[in-house]
Amino acid sequence: MNDDLAGASQRVSERSSRPPGQGSPATAARRCLGGYRGYLFDLDGTLYLGDRLLPGARELVERLRSLGRRVVFLSNNPTRTREQYGEKLTRLGIPAEAADVVTSAQVMAIYLGRTAPGSTLYVVGEPPLVEELRSAGFSLSEGPDEIDIVVCGFDRTFTYEKLNVALQAIRRGARFVATNPDRTCPVEGGEIPDCAAMIGAIEGATGKRVEVIVGKPSPIIVEVALESIGLDASDCLVVGDRLETDVRTGANSGMDSALVLTGVTSPEQLEASSVRPTYVLSGVVEILDALRHHER
Ligand SMILES: [Mg+2]
Repeated sequence: MNDDLAGASQRVSERSSRPPGQGSPATAARRCLGGYRGYLFDLDGTLYLGDRLLPGARELVERLRSLGRRVVFLSNNPTRTREQYGEKLTRLGIPAEAADVVTSAQVMAIYLGRTAPGSTLYVVGEPPLVEELRSAGFSLSEGPDEIDIVVCGFDRTFTYEKLNVALQAIRRGARFVATNPDRTCPVEGGEIPDCAAMIGAIEGATGKRVEVIVGKPSPIIVEVALESIGLDASDCLVVGDRLETDVRTGANSGMDSALVLTGVTSPEQLEASSVRPTYVLSGVVEILDALRHHER
């Protein structure tokens, strides 16, 4: 697995220089929307909007599970724990445990555990990311001479002081990795700066580009998700509302993708983009309808 993950991170950087959409599998619409063995769901904008489940979301997950299909929830947000996502889904009516959820913070802990065990880390991030890394056995330090890797996450407590520690460590040769590439995070009434803003600050200060980003659209998060459900990419569909993360995740991993128009992407944005999903859906309810046909 070590080699796979290391290879995956390289593939990310190779692909990032490629025009968008060119990694799309040539398997478009090769099977019924309801015919996959596994479904990887984005959360906000896909299954719920804020605190409101989207139409068909609860019934869809229930139906998939009753048919023996595997379901996993993917989040790029490292500021919430898997337990918190499980609790939120359960509260909204979709029973879920921490083990059903994959977050970029967890993926970072697994990735570094496989590729850089025993490293000393400096974390620009919030407690859930720190806890994932600490419980994976990493020691943390704020001393630039001790730091092997600077781990950057979405951090609403980002400061000049943190930026300076990152700069001094990277100057002394520390590696630089990050949880997710999102520029902004949707919140009630608008958006707030997400991980790309912290990455940008560190890149600006150091002149060094982030080496690896483990969250969507990286194949690294997909690999962790697929391991958790025991399936191959070709058996699964990734479903989400963002072209640059969710849909591109499919293209980068050889997996079919479904864009739902219940979140941040408008039909006009889809039209203007070169990122091409396998399916475009008004919402996840269309998968539920397809399952009904599939069962007939
Ligand atoms: Mg989303």
